Parts: sequence; C-alpha cells; structure tokens
Amino acid sequence: MVITILGCGTSIGVPMIGREMPHHKDPKNRRLRASILIEPFGRGEGSILIDTSPDLRQQALTYFHKKKTRLDAVLITHEHADHLHGIDDIRPFNFLQRYQIPFYGEKRVMDTIHSRFHYIFYPTQIGGGLPQLSLNPVGKRTFRLKEAHDPKLHKVEVTPLPCEHGKITCYGYRIGSLAYITDISRIPEETMRRLKDLDVLILDCLRPKPHPTHINVEQAIDYAQQIKAKKIIFTHMNQEIEYDSFRKSLPPRMVPAFDGMRFNLPCPVAQD
Ligand SMILES: [Zn+2]
Ligand SMILES: [Zn+2]
Repeated sequence: MVITILGCGTSIGVPMIGREMPHHKDPKNRRLRASILIEPFGRGEGSILIDTSPDLRQQALTYFHKKKTRLDAVLITHEHADHLHGIDDIRPFNFLQRYQIPFYGEKRVMDTIHSRFHYIFYPTQIGGGLPQLSLNPVGKRTFRLKEAHDPKLHKVEVTPLPCEHGKITCYGYRIGSLAYITDISRIPEETMRRLKDLDVLILDCLRPKPHPTHINVEQAIDYAQQIKAKKIIFTHMNQEIEYDSFRKSLPPRMVPAFDGMRFNLPCPVAQD
C-alpha cells in the first residue's frame, strides 16, 4: 500500500494570501489543503482519495501516477469547504474512466453534498459535464468499497474513526495499519480503541495556540503519546509551523508532514 500526502495545510493553505514569510520559501513550508491518496495495491493500481480539497486539480497533476492516473473511491471526513470543494475536479477522472466514482462518509455529510452541490444531482444546464458520483452513507461500522468499479477494491476494509470537531462529528478512517484523523478537537474513547496496532497515524495538529475546533501542537503530542502507533505524522498545519524547527522539537516517533510525502505499508486486503 502506497500512501501520499497530497496536502497538509490548514483551511486557507500555507502561506496565507497576503502573509508570506521568509520560511515559506522552503517547499516543505508550502502546504496545500489537507488530503491523502491511498493506493492499496501499489502505484497506479487503484486509488482511494480522502477528501476532495479545493487544491485537488493541482494535487492530482503533481502527485497522481502520470501514466495510470485513476480514482476509484473517495472517503469524505466532513463537509467543511477545505475538505470538499474540489468535488468538480473528479470530472477528468470520469472522462478518463467513464464510470461513477463512489463517495463514502457519514450520512449528514452525504446529505450536505446532495444539497450544497444540487446541480450535480439535478442538472439544469447542458454542457461542461458534471461530476459522476454516487453517495454512500456509512455508519460507524467497518465497511468495504463494494461500489468501486474495480472488483479488486471490493476487498478493501475501511473502519470509520468518528471524532469531535467542535460541535460536529468528523470521521477519520483506518485502512490496514494506517489511520488518518484530521480536523478534531477530541478523540472519543470508542475511537481510541480502534487505534491499536497502527504502523502510521496521520493526525491533526493545527498550530501552537489552542483552537476551539482543532487540537493544537501540545494536544496532538499528548494524543500521539497515548496512541502507540510506530509513527505519527502531523497534518493540517497553519503558517506559523516551520517544518525544520518543528521536526527537531518533536519527541521520537513523531514527524510533521510535507506535501508529497510518500511511504509504503503492507497491503491491507482481507483474506477470505
Ligand atoms: Zn480542515
Ligand atoms: Zn473542518
């Protein structure tokens, strides 16, 4: 399984418009909006995207497999614009693949996609093309990607990781020994129990100061110390976090993400 961090920035991206600082010259301090790509069977062999960020076009052009560009399934964490509003950029995949792409997420989030992007489901104009997707609400239980066009994906098991994000729920997702948890203010006990035996946890870590709907650096380190993953990678970082100095300040097992970070884990496909 190959995992690529497509973006590790906060909602406005890094640097923020009009607030560029000297450390933003380093590519590791330039962050697109948060999302990751998971390729369970290797590069270009079927891909699962977590969140359609407003930077999806640029992320796909830069980080997807150049010759075997494809998208098989999308998991949505929650409905905030920085995680969803690149939804129209799935159209080139539709043009290439000629089939619907299944989206998965909490029912509230699927309903929000239906109402916020109503033009997708109730076309009112001809021309330009519309995203071709199906909405598949999931509960808290582990599910499989059975709506994917490629049957190879049907065996991939995904475990939702419901967390609190201020007043709303945000789903993290676990596939095999990888967990991705962004945009959280608290991880409930029930979800903590789903985070055992991880190789890698990718975790929200907004900024040094506290925030009402995100965990800050101190809280992220605290969770990382409780969760015994072999490696913890911090994401959704704002413009104040400087990659090099932050990396050096962190305890063992913990590192900041950077856009384009890529690593391998064992293939997660269930044997049955
Ligand atoms: Zn966000
Ligand atoms: Zn959010």
